[in-house]
Amino acid sequence: SIPTVQKKIVLLGQSSVGKSSLVSQFCKSEFFENQEPTIGPVFLSKELEFSTHKVSLQIWDTGGQEKYANLSPLFYRNAAAALVVFDLNKECTLNKAKEKIQALSTYGDPNMVITLVGNKCDLERQVNSEKVKEYCEENGIMYFETSAKTGNGVEGVFQQISRKFKLPKKEDFYQ
Ligand code: GDP
Repeated sequence: SIPTVQKKIVLLGQSSVGKSSLVSQFCKSEFFENQEPTIGPVFLSKELEFSTHKVSLQIWDTGGQEKYANLSPLFYRNAAAALVVFDLNKECTLNKAKEKIQALSTYGDPNMVITLVGNKCDLERQVNSEKVKEYCEENGIMYFETSAKTGNGVEGVFQQISRKFKLPKKEDFYQ
């Protein structure tokens, strides 16, 4: 069997942009129109297989706790990647996402893979994708558009992030 490496991914972004929905679509292929608000941090796991190794992803949802600034660094400590999510039809959520990216780039681990995700691409959009792409190119981060509802683009986000992780060293493996 091939070695498995475990990686923590955190989801950040304003309430209602679809963080819990993205996790549940990716890990369980489930979507709920009336997703219950998440209370407190929770995680779900999912394994992705590559030719040389498997990546076991531990995907953490903030449960709204990111608004308490002092909890935030604890939450994303040891995270290999941060997915900053906004709602493509709420421009204000993009501004919040940019602030979060700024904070992560300043205070986070420099090896952390930071990714911006525009969710709800199945709805009519308010945000200009080209401008977002320019912003991401300037800041050297990846950009994806998804629909947690239809599943469009969701798997791709996690696949691409996992490809960015440095190849595992022996001591990172577990049996
Ligand atoms: P969170 O607070 O960021 O975790 O957001 P939720 O996952 O709770 O989603 C908030 C609301 O948006 C729920 O009613 C979801 O059903 C809905 N939602 C989430 N993702 C999508 C999407 O991609 N498309 C549409 N149409 N609705 C979505």
